[in-house]
Amino acid sequence: MRIIKSIKEMREFVAEMRQAGKSIGLAPTMGALHAGHLELMSQAKSQCDVVVVSIFVNPIQFGPNEDFAKYPRDLASDAQKTAGVGVDAVFYPTPEMMYPDGFATYVNVEGITDKLCGLSRPGHFRGVVTVVCKLFHIVKPDKAFFGQKDAQQVAVIRRMTDDLDMDIDIQMIPIVREESGLAMSSRNEYLSPLEREAALVLSRSLEKAQQAFSGGEKTVEILKALVAREIKAEPMALIDYVEAYRYPDLAEVEQVEDKVLLALAVYIGKTRLIDNIILEA
Ligand code: AMP
Repeated sequence: MRIIKSIKEMREFVAEMRQAGKSIGLAPTMGALHAGHLELMSQAKSQCDVVVVSIFVNPIQFGPNEDFAKYPRDLASDAQKTAGVGVDAVFYPTPEMMYPDGFATYVNVEGITDKLCGLSRPGHFRGVVTVVCKLFHIVKPDKAFFGQKDAQQVAVIRRMTDDLDMDIDIQMIPIVREESGLAMSSRNEYLSPLEREAALVLSRSLEKAQQAFSGGEKTVEILKALVAREIKAEPMALIDYVEAYRYPDLAEVEQVEDKVLLALAVYIGKTRLIDNIILEA
């Protein structure tokens, strides 16, 4: 497995692979890799000849009071994990390389970025879409792999590739959870043992909603209220949002028809965690 630290070398690697007639899969990440990330890579490996994983803690998608500085970084451990699932190359650029002096071009998806995490984290999706667009131009993948954990992000990236005529197949991989139900996240590293216990309320509340839905409850307000009530019963949890929108266009709906994304963001202590389920009528 190659670790590639420059844009030029990355371009040369993919050009070589293309010349050899190989298809390329890309899994963009911010590192601190866990089983959720590794699942994206395994899926990429099963669908593409060559798998590139980018590890880049993207400064422009963090707000001024967010965790950019303390976000966990450990290339050596990440590289071991990627090698274990057959990744061919890890792209590990620096912020200075991605955003050199004079950088002034941003990609903005409108509308569907005004709600959920886009509302709580102003500028977040502008940063995400810009870096993903750059990665797509550098790596030129046939397919790119993202997790349902960030379901809004997948909808936003698909919007971008459709709107800008990028010929890249965007694959969404289901959420990988710990046995306890907790969605895997690099930010789980911030949680104390007590907070980790409290954090189980996220998946538990969504599970309750899923059960109610399976039992015939289709009214979005009732399903959202059910989730909120469960979370409010946990003293260490503070709701940022509990929302439900049609997926993937994130239109407002009153009843679950087609697909509805039931998504939440909750602070457990200082750590903001997200989770979701997609209800399918
Ligand atoms: P991140 O490093 O947190 O930016 O995540 C990189 C990619 O991994 C994104 O597409 C995430 O949606 C995906 N991902 C993160 N956690 C999970 C998980 N628990 N299950 C599936 N995909 C995940």
